Amino acid sequence: MEQRYQVIIVGGGPVGVALAVELGQRGVSCVLIERHTTPQRIPKGQNLTNRSMEHFYFWGAVDELRAARVMPRGYPIGGITAYGDLMRDHWYIPVGRESYGDYFFQANERLPQYLTEEVLRARMADFPNVTSIPGWSAETIEQEEQGVRVTITEENGPGRQVFEAEYVVGCDGPRSTVREQSGIERDGTDFDQKMALLVFRSRELHEGLKHLPERTVYRALSPDFKGAWCFFGRIDVGEGWFFHAPVPRDATAEDYDFRGLLQRAAGFEFSVEFDHIGFWELRVAVANTYRKGRAFIAGDAAHTHPPYGAYGLNTGLEDVTNLGWKLAAALEGWGGDSLLDSYSEERRPIFWETGEDVIADGIKRDRAFLEQYSPDRDLEEFKQAWKKVEAADSEVNRTYEPHYEGSSVVMGPPDSVCSIHGSLSLTAKAGHHLAPQLLSSGCNVFEELGSGFTLLAFDAEDSTVKDFEETAMSLNVPLKVVRDTYEDGRKKTESRLALVRPDQYVAWTGDTSPDDTARLMQKVTGIV
Ligand SMILES: Cc1cc2nc3c(=O)[nH]c(=O)nc-3n(C[C@H](O)[C@H](O)[C@H](O)COP(=O)(O)OP(=O)(O)OC[C@H]3O[C@@H](n4cnc5c(N)ncnc54)[C@H](O)[C@@H]3O)c2cc1C
Repeated sequence: MEQRYQVIIVGGGPVGVALAVELGQRGVSCVLIERHTTPQRIPKGQNLTNRSMEHFYFWGAVDELRAARVMPRGYPIGGITAYGDLMRDHWYIPVGRESYGDYFFQANERLPQYLTEEVLRARMADFPNVTSIPGWSAETIEQEEQGVRVTITEENGPGRQVFEAEYVVGCDGPRSTVREQSGIERDGTDFDQKMALLVFRSRELHEGLKHLPERTVYRALSPDFKGAWCFFGRIDVGEGWFFHAPVPRDATAEDYDFRGLLQRAAGFEFSVEFDHIGFWELRVAVANTYRKGRAFIAGDAAHTHPPYGAYGLNTGLEDVTNLGWKLAAALEGWGGDSLLDSYSEERRPIFWETGEDVIADGIKRDRAFLEQYSPDRDLEEFKQAWKKVEAADSEVNRTYEPHYEGSSVVMGPPDSVCSIHGSLSLTAKAGHHLAPQLLSSGCNVFEELGSGFTLLAFDAEDSTVKDFEETAMSLNVPLKVVRDTYEDGRKKTESRLALVRPDQYVAWTGDTSPDDTARLMQKVTGIV
């Protein structure tokens, strides 16, 4: 049996299903191949950032996602970092990424990843142009000039099918078949450290932490573990927990004292019932490119790393939002090949810097601090250095602003680069995420954005707007114009005109008509 789609998605974890929703909404015909029939009940990516919640808003599933929350509404989502264990005197509450909510249209959320996946799968079922095939594995991925061919086999049976499409996207996790068969290599820092992942229940742990302010996650920095974390996270309030920490290379699920490890990290004894014991490696691995011909990779297939800072799932969902409209544009004929190239050009540096500058450097910085300072050796010196650890921790969140200023499909400043280092400014700037703001109608600008490009026109000349509309029509680029008065509308944007991409990133800003509107539109759609 052979069937043809526009896009084949390999891997139906959260990133693959989110891509199916994104493409489904854009009218792209796609098939999703997933090895398993049910997701693993491990909470994993629980912390969904403000930005990820914007994606759920545009996917039409934000209310469903918030309704699936397990934690009581209003329970603080942030964390506590403690020196040694959770009973010592030295701890702080870093300023988390959620503190910069003004920059986003949605508040952050927290729920177990398997519940997020359920919401996404329910939404995917709304699209007749998306076919989901659970219980099958992609075995071979072949590329030809005109398309891709993926052979899939049944997990628990003799079935074999061949699918053809214009493009294939590997959302197939760390051991990605699509990545490997496309010959894409990975690079990054390897700490050569085995880590345990435990899911357990303990009311006594909940009770024992009542001396600390209510928080969702607790990170203990122990001098014994060279900067690797002992990390407790709540699944609910009162009983459910997950935990990860370093273990010796030869530790197995059967013969290691996990209870002792937990109690050492907490600093007190408590009873535990384990639901899951697993392992992972403390290393960052980022693909050298996210595109090879007609094959793309997204999510953990493109970047894996320690779950330090909630970057994994959130970054994967941003990959989807960046890639989805570009694939649709190429399939509809208004996006050029360089628009497809810009996916890797924009997204890869973001994770490379996240993995190296934030996660790996963070581990190294903590290691250096733990080696040099100790409250038992010199308390005053330790306190001064501990304050600096807290400041550095908060600073990372204050300046974490993934942007594409250096992208070839954005009109950013000369010689700029795509980077995570930014300023979360509310001003509209080419290459940056659009900040929300109220229009004079009382609506938020996010409620008015179109699914294609949007021109924000604040008291702009009619001739300028007409020029954009006619140019977009001649190039078949979907464009919605949102008009408002300059005085009201300019509150944060600080320019009369802003061209916003379908992923809510600004492609161009100005106060007057561009010199050559056709050339601008061709550039931001990758035609020139
Ligand atoms: C303890 C822990 C805590 C975490 N906390 C956070 C957090 O707070 N925030 C955050 O953002 N992230 C977090 N993460 C990371 C997050 O879980 C991952 O980034 C996320 O699961 C990646 O999703 P994915 O869809 O890319 O890959 P996966 O979830 O790995 O899904 C890949 C899917 O592809 C399928 N597959 C693989 N090969 C094939 C094939 N050949 N054919 C068909 N199907 C295939 C697999 O069955 C799987 O379902 C955490 C991870 C862990 C382990």
